[in-house]
Amino acid sequence: MSRSFAQTVEVACGSCKQQFNAEVWLIVDAAERPELVAQIQESTMHLAHCPHCGTAHPLDVPLLFHDQSNQLLVFAAQEQSTPQQDQQIARQLGQQLIASIPLAERATYLTTAHTVVGMDDLRRAVMGEMLAAGDELSAGLRALMEAPTPGAVRRVAEAHPVLLTQEALNHLRDYVQQLQAAEHPDLAVALEQRIEALPLVQPHPTLQFIQTLLDAESPEARRALLAARPHDVTPEVPTILEALADQAQRRHLEAVARDMLVIRDEVLGSLGRDIPVTPSA
Ligand SMILES: [Zn+2]
Repeated sequence: MSRSFAQTVEVACGSCKQQFNAEVWLIVDAAERPELVAQIQESTMHLAHCPHCGTAHPLDVPLLFHDQSNQLLVFAAQEQSTPQQDQQIARQLGQQLIASIPLAERATYLTTAHTVVGMDDLRRAVMGEMLAAGDELSAGLRALMEAPTPGAVRRVAEAHPVLLTQEALNHLRDYVQQLQAAEHPDLAVALEQRIEALPLVQPHPTLQFIQTLLDAESPEARRALLAARPHDVTPEVPTILEALADQAQRRHLEAVARDMLVIRDEVLGSLGRDIPVTPSA
């Protein structure tokens, strides 16, 4: 049974006065329909285009968003509705979603949806929560926000080398924009200053080594690299590769994530050979 759910509604075009049918999504399951998650992130969800004249109409429709991997359930209420209507629709959509989930997977977070109003707030909730999803990057981000001086920022970067990846920088810059959009200009400026203070000129040697691995043409070339530079193959290399794979997965870049995990396994193999094995007594 499909978890995501759409309905067809009739829209009267305000520009050309003609009627047309639009498909509106009322339940979006992130794992099932990544392209709809992208629509939420790109602010094109619940935007109906008139087939006669091309005018885009934002539709005031509720949406229940479910992301099982982050245990996230968000109900986006309509802009023009009463709290009673919201409650009723949220309950109805929640029951429909739960009915589509196998019993064994029905965790307690499904009983209380985090409520926001409108698609803009849903976009912020989805992006913000995904960023805060307990990974290495968000630990780095928290430490970064607490760093009071440029020197402290550099020390945070040494402790959290994942902050210096391009992927992380893209996330941090997205986050600056989210903070601006959410009317937190002070926080946005504070984060921007810290991003500026990150030591970009000299990336962490571990990250430089990972970049060299990612740039290698073939598994053979990577094997040669791993064999030639044993001192660069530190235990944090596979951890960072895993974090990068996780980030790629969240962005639905499955092929990139798979490559990262293949390289991680190669590195683990190489570490295994170099770690002296002590027989257990
Ligand atoms: Zn029209």
